[in-house]
Amino acid sequence: MNTRIDQFPAPAPGGPDSVNTWLVGDDEEVIVIDPGADAAGLFDTVGDREVLAVICTHGHAEHVAAAFEVAERDEAPVALHPRDRSLWREAHPGEDADIEMEDGGVFEVADVALEVIHAPGHTAGSVCLYCEDLGALFTGHVLLAGGAAAHDGEFPDFARQLNAIGENLLALPPDTRVLPGHGPETTIATAEKQFDAWVAAGPVLGE
Ligand SMILES: [Zn+2]
Ligand SMILES: [Zn+2]
Repeated sequence: MNTRIDQFPAPAPGGPDSVNTWLVGDDEEVIVIDPGADAAGLFDTVGDREVLAVICTHGHAEHVAAAFEVAERDEAPVALHPRDRSLWREAHPGEDADIEMEDGGVFEVADVALEVIHAPGHTAGSVCLYCEDLGALFTGHVLLAGGAAAHDGEFPDFARQLNAIGENLLALPPDTRVLPGHGPETTIATAEKQFDAWVAAGPVLGE
């Protein structure tokens, strides 16, 4: 299996906290998770591989700004959970995503599958993508290495977000890599060890 995960931009410790865009695929085709805002830069990492789909973990503008620009080259569909449609329209007025994701939905690329896990809280339509074949979970803003991610200095629904992490994500195999929308990666095992402390701390901000 030569299916792999690429990250754009490449991790730069101390660099600007840009959105992590994740690419899952082989030498022929890729799925893009969270296109961010820099389509031209992203295409350097995509190369001439066919983009099969552009998946948005949620509707916040910094994560979805370049969605159509990235999708258009290969006429790929853009996927979003319908509960984030109104947020999405702030970035893309008058233009809806092509695929309405739902919990349990599956995308296939190269020889692996990505399963949609609805994990509301950060936004009503936040999703994670689980790739059992590669032992990886793409968490967007649901879960960063330091815990639940806030938005603009506050937690839209902290209790629900923690519940989604505890119920839906920590049930995955402990050695699963957690690949978030910002910052460094972690694992399910590490997150599980920290989870009680996150619950006890409540909605405090900090990385
Ligand atoms: Zn973000
Ligand atoms: Zn967000």
